[in-house]
Amino acid sequence: MARVMLIGAGGVAGVAAAKMAQNPDVFGELLIASRTKARCDAIKADIERRVADGWSGRAKTPCSTLNSQLSTRIATAQLDAMDVAKTVALIKDFKPDLVMNIALPYQDLAIMDACLAAGVSYLDTANYEPPEEAHFEYSWQWAYREKFAQAGLTAILGCGFDPGVTQVFSAYAQKHYFDEIHTLDILDCNGGDHGYPFATNFNPEINIREVAAKGSYWVADELKVESGESRVVDGHGVPVDCRKAFDKGWWVETAPMAIKRVYTFDGVGEKDMYLLHHEELESLGCNLKGIRRIRFFMTFGQSYLTHLKCLENVGMTRIDPVDFKGQKIVPIEFLKALLPDPASLGPRTKGKTNIGCIFEGVKDGKPVSYYVYNICDHQACYAEVGSQAISYTTGVPAMIGAKMFLEGRWTAKGVHTCEEFDPDPFMAELNVQGLPWQENFNPVKVD
Ligand code: NDP
Repeated sequence: MARVMLIGAGGVAGVAAAKMAQNPDVFGELLIASRTKARCDAIKADIERRVADGWSGRAKTPCSTLNSQLSTRIATAQLDAMDVAKTVALIKDFKPDLVMNIALPYQDLAIMDACLAAGVSYLDTANYEPPEEAHFEYSWQWAYREKFAQAGLTAILGCGFDPGVTQVFSAYAQKHYFDEIHTLDILDCNGGDHGYPFATNFNPEINIREVAAKGSYWVADELKVESGESRVVDGHGVPVDCRKAFDKGWWVETAPMAIKRVYTFDGVGEKDMYLLHHEELESLGCNLKGIRRIRFFMTFGQSYLTHLKCLENVGMTRIDPVDFKGQKIVPIEFLKALLPDPASLGPRTKGKTNIGCIFEGVKDGKPVSYYVYNICDHQACYAEVGSQAISYTTGVPAMIGAKMFLEGRWTAKGVHTCEEFDPDPFMAELNVQGLPWQENFNPVKVD
């Protein structure tokens, strides 16, 4: 049985820890280490109560390990993961087989450095983002490829739902249904309602930085971006801010929320969705054979967008320090302190999420369309582990990724994204660990 060190004690970490405790035959010992130790202790106490209760809230697909007589031993520790020396010392003391970073993207590089120094493999759920710049991309973490490979260690990047499962879905589609995938649309729909006028479903600072950023999508060169009379527009007449060469194709950048579509989601209904930049586009553009276009859409309600615009207009989403009564404050950090803690939304959130991928391409010379998606119910997640579905759909894949590594199925040395591994065992685990998926070979496309 393996030992895992989990860094972070927010909504996602709480789910990942609970799901590890549901699989005690794999996860023998768990150390939860985070900035605020009281939150680690609260997660441990909640899990121990649920174990004693026999996971009575778990109404999902039965999982044989729940009948096991084993239980995961859980310890907790205080840790500022930006302090590499202290992280190395804690790793050397606990001697884990894997370190899982489910704190924030700001900590990715510090924890990867600590893993290299201590000789242990690494997994995270979001790619690196520098605190002073609202911008994320894989280049910073891909720069560690040689170092991890030479050290004989594995780093699994972005193992949540999106990124994460969306890339496993892509690898599965490529392996089983396509010779070439030409287009991919990733659709992330949250049909949940928490009853607050404005709240974010995961860390507010990271969430707002993501949705306030410019939209972008990836196209191979032959899909032309058209030139308008006075400014460049894409094929839908949307103004394009710029095109940047990337690997075998181009990033097409648009103003935030400039591209809107309406889509009817199974289990949820009709929703407005908007094109966003998202990290998995970057790796999938490199790894999908024959790919010509990848887009990412996320649903937002009008109230959320109106609040966000207002907050932006008054400067509350700024990430640079401003003077306030003789001290420096960063407006978005102050805003985070005012907003509901995402980990507290569980009891209030009702409705479902539907996240999946629509592929078009060819197999044996014939055109193929394929949609694979998961529907997740907020209240079922709350009954099972005390969280809403956004934390659940991220924490469960993080646990499965760790299980894949610890069972010797996902162990390629170096730094890898999820589509680079065999998708089949991961897809099988999704069905038994609470995130079953559905397939549709004649889906409604996004225009
Ligand atoms: P939360 O804000 O709820 O939790 C973050 C945790 O990290 C908190 O416990 C916080 O400590 C801890 N932390 C912050 N800084 C440090 C530090 N320097 N050292 C140690 N611990 C630290 O975030 P979520 O749980 O909502 O999200 C966790 C991660 O999951 C994020 O990276 C997010 O981007 C990612 N994510 C990925 C998704 C996917 O599908 N791939 C979807 C949703 C989220 P404290 O308690 O003191 O604040």
